[in-house]
Amino acid sequence: MASSRKLHVLFITSEVYPLCKTGGLGDVSAALPIALRELNIDVKLLLPGYPQVLAGVKYKSKVAEFNELQQFPSSTLLLARLSLNKSENIPVFVIDCPGLFNREGGPYMDTLGREWPDNALRFGLLSKIGAILSSDASPIAWHPHITHCNDWQSGLTPAYLHFYHGKKAATVMTIHNLAFQGIFPPGSVVQLGLPMDSFDMNGVEYYGNMSFLKAGLYYADHITTVSANYAHEIQKEPLGFGLQGLLSTRRNNLTGITNGIAINHWNPTTDSYLTKNYSSKKLSDKAANKHTLQQLMGLTIDANTPLFGVISRLNHQKGTDLLIQIAPQLIKIPAQLIVLGSDHAELEHQLSMLAQTYPEAIAVRIGFDEALSHLIEAGVDCFLMPSRFEPCGLNQMYSQRYGTPPIVHATGGLLDTVVDCTPTTLAEGSASGFLFEPVTANSLLDAIRRAVQTFHNKKTWQQLQKNGMAKDFSWNASAAAYQKIYSSLVR
Ligand code: ADP
Repeated sequence: MASSRKLHVLFITSEVYPLCKTGGLGDVSAALPIALRELNIDVKLLLPGYPQVLAGVKYKSKVAEFNELQQFPSSTLLLARLSLNKSENIPVFVIDCPGLFNREGGPYMDTLGREWPDNALRFGLLSKIGAILSSDASPIAWHPHITHCNDWQSGLTPAYLHFYHGKKAATVMTIHNLAFQGIFPPGSVVQLGLPMDSFDMNGVEYYGNMSFLKAGLYYADHITTVSANYAHEIQKEPLGFGLQGLLSTRRNNLTGITNGIAINHWNPTTDSYLTKNYSSKKLSDKAANKHTLQQLMGLTIDANTPLFGVISRLNHQKGTDLLIQIAPQLIKIPAQLIVLGSDHAELEHQLSMLAQTYPEAIAVRIGFDEALSHLIEAGVDCFLMPSRFEPCGLNQMYSQRYGTPPIVHATGGLLDTVVDCTPTTLAEGSASGFLFEPVTANSLLDAIRRAVQTFHNKKTWQQLQKNGMAKDFSWNASAAAYQKIYSSLVR
């Protein structure tokens, strides 16, 4: 599409750190574009204009108006800058459509956790404007070569582009979590301005409804997902969530690229949320953070009791029920547990009850707290991720970088990024955490016991911490892998 030689990429996302983040997609949407821009790729984001986005971006200027797009309300397109810190910022297109985006609550749900009833229209508009900007019908002069869609919220962009016959960008669809598919009643097809013949098994239809994600997976030129292992897992049941057939058919156009992390933001030597910064050369300074954390959370202050941490959405995917099952046995080891998270009301309640029953050993904070999440990564001894499935996962990487060996279920990206501690991997210098399977309470508890035993052997534990801290979790390799895919698609 674009004629200049510099590669132009339109990166469409429904959340971005620090303005609006509910999970890993928010982190990736900030860090990957920054890494791509360092490779001299001109990446611009396209975001819905939620109140926190409109308030948080700088230098807004109006670049287009969309007044007659099917049933969509009128909207204005702004171009602005998103600053991540003093030296890093990204250009962003923001869709200012007060009727769809200017409301209290989260990006997908209201304050009571109910999905917004007009989500098809909200993310249909995001997808539609993404498609217009990716075509020669765009009202603006900047044209992308590649349009990179992320998760179901921008899944209709490749479908709109498929049915557009002018010049257009090539499309990449990235799956961050296949469990969320954007499923809406069949009437949405016409409402959103797609041709009725797209409502077919070979199209946007998914078991009698329409699926935004399936549309993206069917029509995009290339599909990526966030780890190599997950790319294999989703081609089969049960992790294919009904899309395994399509994904397996498209396997030659499906690539797993493991996420990186924002190493400047997650850096124990400079992290301003910590009581004391530390490095692998002075690991003893990590202890001050454990002390603060135990004090802050009302736990018994004791450097020798192993302290376990969890930061996560609290739900079935993340294995929160398994944690609840093992917590009474974990504290008998003895050990302590800190949980930060929110999501499923019943699981939140059960965790809070555990904290009330064992206040010296278990602390629970329900909610989203960026500052506390950094202190937990630094202050706990060991991190727990008993996820039933995990496309990539970020906290296991933050943990290794913070000298906090993670205990993870051997699934998805967790398997790709953590090396189980065994005599062999210790001797090789690669051991960086503990893997377990199957994903049951017993095998989680066995892994915890294994970790505690190692924790009490200070020399081995330090080796494990140092191995994790020495690993390269930067975006460099992943950004280069995306660049390779983009280049292969530019015609
Ligand atoms: P997912 O996207 O499935 O929720 P990821 O591990 O990919 O899981 O990313 C989750 C991100 O959200 C991490 O950066 C994690 O630290 C953060 N996070 C999750 N829950 C909370 C919370 N309650 N407070 C602060 N950060 C959180």
